[in-house]
This record gives sequence, structure tokens and C-alpha cells, in this order.
Amino acid sequence: MEQVDLGVIGAGPAGMAAATIAATAGLSVVVLDEQPAMGGQIYRAVASGGAARTDILGKDYLEGAGLAQDLQASTARHLTEAVVWDIAPQEGGVAITYSHKGIPARIEAKRLLLATGALERPVPLPGWTLPGVMTAGAGQILLKASGMVAPRAVLAGSGPLLYLLAVQMARAGSPPLALIETQSLRDQLAAAPRLAGGIRGWRILIKGLGLLAELRRHGIRRITGARDLEVIGTGRAEGLRFSAQGRAQEIACDTVLLHQGVVPNTQASRALGLAHDWHAGQRAFVPRTDGWGESSHPGIFIAGDGAGIAGAKAAAVAGQLAGLQIACQLGALDRAARDAKAQPARKTLDAERSIRPFLEAAYPVAAQILCPADKTLVCRCEEVTAGDVRHWAGLGCKGPNQTKAFGRVGMGPCQGRYCGLTVTEILSHSHNLPHSQIGAYRIRMPLKPVTLGELSTVNAPEDAEEGHPK
Ligand SMILES: Cc1cc2nc3c(=O)[nH]c(=O)nc-3n(C[C@H](O)[C@H](O)[C@H](O)COP(=O)(O)OP(=O)(O)OC[C@H]3O[C@@H](n4cnc5c(N)ncnc54)[C@H](O)[C@@H]3O)c2cc1C
Repeated sequence: MEQVDLGVIGAGPAGMAAATIAATAGLSVVVLDEQPAMGGQIYRAVASGGAARTDILGKDYLEGAGLAQDLQASTARHLTEAVVWDIAPQEGGVAITYSHKGIPARIEAKRLLLATGALERPVPLPGWTLPGVMTAGAGQILLKASGMVAPRAVLAGSGPLLYLLAVQMARAGSPPLALIETQSLRDQLAAAPRLAGGIRGWRILIKGLGLLAELRRHGIRRITGARDLEVIGTGRAEGLRFSAQGRAQEIACDTVLLHQGVVPNTQASRALGLAHDWHAGQRAFVPRTDGWGESSHPGIFIAGDGAGIAGAKAAAVAGQLAGLQIACQLGALDRAARDAKAQPARKTLDAERSIRPFLEAAYPVAAQILCPADKTLVCRCEEVTAGDVRHWAGLGCKGPNQTKAFGRVGMGPCQGRYCGLTVTEILSHSHNLPHSQIGAYRIRMPLKPVTLGELSTVNAPEDAEEGHPK
């Protein structure tokens, strides 16, 4: 079995930066990612290059190319299409089990870095399960991975990613029909006092203002303060209905791209039983980490959006900090060298994080999404509605894990990734109890669906014809 100093899960900015810095310090490093290329969400397929891509996706996208080149030039080994489905702490480190094209393999690592990024918050509203409805992130993946733009689309929800995607679609020659936003002027005014604390993150504000100006130049219609959103259509999405400016409105379209911000992907950190805290601003659970990204389990680190949403630049420097501390713990760097290298990274991290409280208040999650109407499906896998969860709460069901016993909610193929937070929100509201007391689903390995064949061969994997498992 392969043994390394550091195993990194995720080849986004956090994972790439951590692996590069640790490998440069002399550690043996392996990076596993289920994607076919490095880059993570924001820099997806960044190594594919091309001026046209940069024109559409923006020059920020190029920053990822630098991170990818550094990783490629380092001694770290990057395994593509490596789906990690089991992590087992053991004496002296962890055992990481993954599958590559259906063939399982296991690696032992003295230290583990979870750099598994963020997930889009689910957007349960009437009609969200109709064909033609996707998340904004999925629309962006189509653009980055395949150069495709969703046709006759309406973008709906809240958060800066909607502006970025609208602009990218317009640059690609297919602007959205409209941007229907749930945040209101009142939210923006209430967020204003937080600007003072976020002044070090001014670059993000300038970028946001630039996107808004570009939206205007492209003539993309924006409506803010929208409520009661509903995707309409028989058999597929045919339009979006909502109320705004004091009246009911409707826009006909073929695609609806929904977004209500992103939340940390805590599937692995939960399955490992690490400590988590409720983050009121991000309305999500966030793993507890120290200033280097080390979790409540010594030797297991978390960096990037998986440790709390702060964006790509913050993810890269948080990855560097984790890589430095791991190199120091394993004797490849002394404390003085670690601290000297960490200083600029910390400065950037603080600046990037400083703007978050403003963004969180300016783009709050819509009340309709936090507390969906009774008839709205919240668990798509098991077809459970918000009303079902409320009914079980009325019967005395206190936490998300109990709801599984009442109606299998969270027990489908997504393993609760897309309904977990909604169920916590509904129970918290129903019982008038804090989210921390309601808690979250208990996640169990395997993290991803695996076949019986993979399970049975994991201890005696065969050579793959192509690819890495041995
Ligand atoms: C859909 C989506 C689109 C986004 N688009 C933008 C954007 O355009 N601009 C922007 O500024 N921010 C964007 N963000 C936010 C941005 O992704 C983050 O700020 C940044 O990418 C965080 O970097 P990271 O390294 O923490 O994680 P990520 O970049 O998300 O990388 C995490 C990696 O972990 C891998 N992974 C997760 N679980 C496993 C597993 N079990 N096995 C193997 N691999 C695994 C994933 O494949 C992924 O490549 C987006 C977020 C999402 C969810």
C-alpha cells in the first residue's frame, strides 16, 4: 500500500496550494480529486487554457492557472478521477480509500488535508425539481467544462455568483433573460455598517461593482426584493413566477438557474466525527479548526471553503498555512521558517475574510428557502416535503437523525448533502431551538456511492489498465 506524508483530498485552490508548499518543503504528497483535471470549482478545467475561455470567464480565472502550474512543477502526485469514499483514522495517520474508474485503492498518510470546498445551498421552492431547473453553479460548470450556455435562462436567488454567471453568459453570447434577486435594498442598507470592518477586502467590492456595471452594459434586467418564487411548467420549466414591486410577475423561459449562496461541504468532516459549530452569518455548520487549519482530530486539517466560506484567494492561502504547519509537524520545516512563510498568507487571509460579514448580510438566504412551504419537496431523493418534516417535529422528533427513522429523509443517494441544512432549519424553527442544539445528520462512510464489487476488492485491488490504482 502506498504510504505518503500528506494526503490531500481536493485539487481546488486550497488543495493545490497546500500540496505545492508541503512538497516544496520535502514531504511526499498525494492529491486526490474526483474531477478529470485540477482546479476545483472556481478554476475548473483551468489547464485547458485558451484566450477565448479567459475572455468569457474573466482574468481571475487565470490565477488558478498559476496554482495548477506550481502543483504540476512540484513533486506532489495528483490523481485525477479519484473518488474518495472512505477515510479511517489509524495509528500514525489515516487510511484513505478511493476509486478510480471503479477500481478501488488505499493510501496511508501521516497527515490528511480535507480541501473539499463548498456546495451550493439547496434552493427548495415550488417547481425546483422540474427538468430545466438547475443551480447557478451547475450552469457555470456547463460553461467551464463544456463551453455550453443554458438557453433562454432566468437566474434567480441571491449572491454575487449570480452576477458573475450572468456576465459570463453574456460574454459567451447568450445573456440571461433576467436576474431575479431575493435580497432587498433593506438588506443592503442593514449590511452597510459592516463595510467599515471589511475595508481590507476592498478588491472584492471593486470586483462586484465592476460586475454590476457590466450587467448594465449588457442590458440585463435586474429585479431585487423578489418573494414567493415558483418555477412554473407542466413536465418542464416554462417560466418563473414571483412577486416584486408590489405585484405578481411572470417571466417565460426554458431554464431557471437558482442560487442562494454556498455552504461548506462537511460530508467528510462530519463522517470523521470532527467538531463543528453553527455559523450564524453563513447559516451553516463549520468545522472547528485552529489558526493552521488543524481540526479537533490531531493530524487532520481542513482548508478552503470546507472550513468556512471565504472565497478562492482565501482558500489558497489557508491551504498554504495548513501545508506549512504539516511540514513543520513532520520535521521538514522549523518553526521560524514556518512563521516567516506564514506571515503574508495570514495577512491575505484576514483581508479576504474581513468582507464576508458584509456579504453575508447584504445577500441573506431568502426566508422562503429557510422555511419552505409545506408542499415543497426538501429531500428530492426520498421525496419528503417540508410539511412532512414539520409533522414529525409535531410528533416530537427533535433532530435530523430522528427524521431519518420517521421518513427516510436524507437517506437517499445524496446522503443528505442537499437536504441536511433545510431539515435543520425547519426543526430549529418548529421547536424554536438554536441550530447548534438541533444538530445535523450523522454522516457515515462510504462518502460516495460504491458498488459491492469495489467494497469486496478494496483489500486486494487489481492493476488498472490505465490510471493509478495498483
Ligand atoms: C458550483 C460552484 C461554483 C463556484 N464558482 C465560483 C466562481 O466562479 N468564482 C468564485 O470566486 N467562486 C466560485 N465558487 C466558490 C469557490 O468554489 C470557492 O471559493 C473556491 O473554489 C474554494 O476552493 P477550495 O479549494 O476550498 O474548494 P474547491 O475549489 O471547491 O475544490 C474542492 C475539490 O474537492 C473535490 N472533492 C470533494 N469531495 C471529494 C471526494 N470525496 N473525492 C474526491 N474529490 C473530492 C472536488 O472535486 C473539488 O475539485 C463556486 C462554488 C461552487 C460550489
